[in-house]
Amino acid sequence: MKDLAGIRTDARLHEIVQPLDVLIVGAGISGVAAARYLRKHRPDDNIAVLEEKETFGGTWVTHRYPGIRSDSDLHTFGYSFKPWIGPPIATAAEILAYMAEVIEENGLADNLHFGWRISSAAWDSARNLWTVTATHTSGQEQRVETRFLWMCQGYYRHSEGFTPEWPGMEDFEGEIMHPQTWPEDFDGTGKRLVVIGSGATAATLVPNVADQVEHVTMLQRSPTYYRSEKNEIPIAKRLRELQVDEEWIHEIVRREMLLMSHDFTEKCFSDPEAVKADLIGTAKKYLGEDFDVGTHFTPDYLPWRQRIARIPDGDLYKALAGGRASIETGHIERFEKNGIRLTNGKLLECEAVATATGFNLAPLGDVAFSVDGQAVDIHDTLGYRSMMFTGMPNLVWVMGYWRSSWTLRAELVAQFVIRLLDHMQDHQKTRVEPQLRSTEQDMEIFDWPDEADFNPGYLLRCKDALPKRGAGKDWRLNQDYWTEKDEFEAIDFDDEIFAYK
Ligand SMILES: Cc1cc2nc3c(=O)[nH]c(=O)nc-3n(C[C@H](O)[C@H](O)[C@H](O)COP(=O)(O)OP(=O)(O)OC[C@H]3O[C@@H](n4cnc5c(N)ncnc54)[C@H](O)[C@@H]3O)c2cc1C
Repeated sequence: MKDLAGIRTDARLHEIVQPLDVLIVGAGISGVAAARYLRKHRPDDNIAVLEEKETFGGTWVTHRYPGIRSDSDLHTFGYSFKPWIGPPIATAAEILAYMAEVIEENGLADNLHFGWRISSAAWDSARNLWTVTATHTSGQEQRVETRFLWMCQGYYRHSEGFTPEWPGMEDFEGEIMHPQTWPEDFDGTGKRLVVIGSGATAATLVPNVADQVEHVTMLQRSPTYYRSEKNEIPIAKRLRELQVDEEWIHEIVRREMLLMSHDFTEKCFSDPEAVKADLIGTAKKYLGEDFDVGTHFTPDYLPWRQRIARIPDGDLYKALAGGRASIETGHIERFEKNGIRLTNGKLLECEAVATATGFNLAPLGDVAFSVDGQAVDIHDTLGYRSMMFTGMPNLVWVMGYWRSSWTLRAELVAQFVIRLLDHMQDHQKTRVEPQLRSTEQDMEIFDWPDEADFNPGYLLRCKDALPKRGAGKDWRLNQDYWTEKDEFEAIDFDDEIFAYK
């Protein structure tokens, strides 16, 4: 039995009473939220969380590269019900400590079962039950029956990140690492490191690894927008000086952050050129007039069509301005034994390469689903508010926000599930799945990602692994917390869109 922050982790799954009322897959920020909502609002439900890793935390346990931190503020990435007291941008360790407190304060430890990977889930309409197959890290296999499945598995495969194939990789004599599986024993002494990528991971890694290596070069195919702000919230500081309760401070700062993020997003669409000029202007301020901001920090798309990375206190710009780091914008032709050759002929000599090139999407945790003996291909289903799928009864999927904090949506989904389960209990229903209303039978159907709206590579690469979306309001992929929070509250569980039995 292991112990992390006082939380027991062992293989007690055989002790649970079956069938469960709700089985939660994954103990990241979403799975812990799901367990907390159930414990608080449906304390009599028989629930369990099955997590493949040996501990909770998900993303914040997987990623251990230098500097790993959030890129949204913890007042909104943290939970509505648990005040965040630290600086807005937090390290993985700080996020894990916060989650440990949530688990402890809500008595969730006994519901968490670590080291169990779910490989399949089969729905049986005759019994209105899911049977999942779970395998423990020890090799022990167990079937678990549950009335309801709550998929909190995140969006990417945790075991390995996405690394493109470049010619000559096998000839390179140095080390190639992906930040998602960062080697704990990496020794950068005397090494020149090239970090390939320009997203949040690369932007975090470059300034934070700079002191551990001889030199670090960020190699990007194309530029990204960055937001650089001081890592503090003046209003929180002031309220603390006024000795206001932390619960109040959390609520006020949360509203402030939500409003600021809403205004920023709105401006990205109403006046994108002004936002663009502002973001690029900040880069210029840090980097000086001689720096080629036009080549390295001027994306060819408008702000917020891809996730905007944060660089608290301008740390990336400072590392570049100070000479500890440099940046190249260009295309890789091939790897050579002592570095990376670009298509413009330049050789970036290096002894180590970090491929901050993204994720492999695993939208349903690589679980093989079947309904009444028929394998389900998720791409054949239609997503109800990116939360439930047609033809898949008693299952809810958590897909958070990209333009706002993920957790805001994880909590909206949690509140929805509580109301749905209450409704089913009140009406003695044991099965629910979404269906097209009679007025929606001819609705236009699309691939899930809306490329004009949000188009990161990992979504477009894997759109066949995602459900479909429809033109109707309830079948769209909505990334706007402000609309969704009102719409979720107004969901009518007697609507024809829910088919019950
Ligand atoms: C480096 C990094 C930084 C990020 N920063 C932010 C940020 O600042 N703000 C933001 O909003 N978003 C951020 N994101 C997106 C981030 O993934 C989510 O915000 C959030 O952490 C997802 O939480 P989750 O619990 O839904 O999923 P995850 O954190 O991915 O956790 C899912 C858990 O499910 C488990 N699991 C998956 N499949 C199975 C299975 N079949 N059986 C059992 N267990 C399974 C996994 O082991 C994992 O522990 C970041 C992502 C990365 C990679």
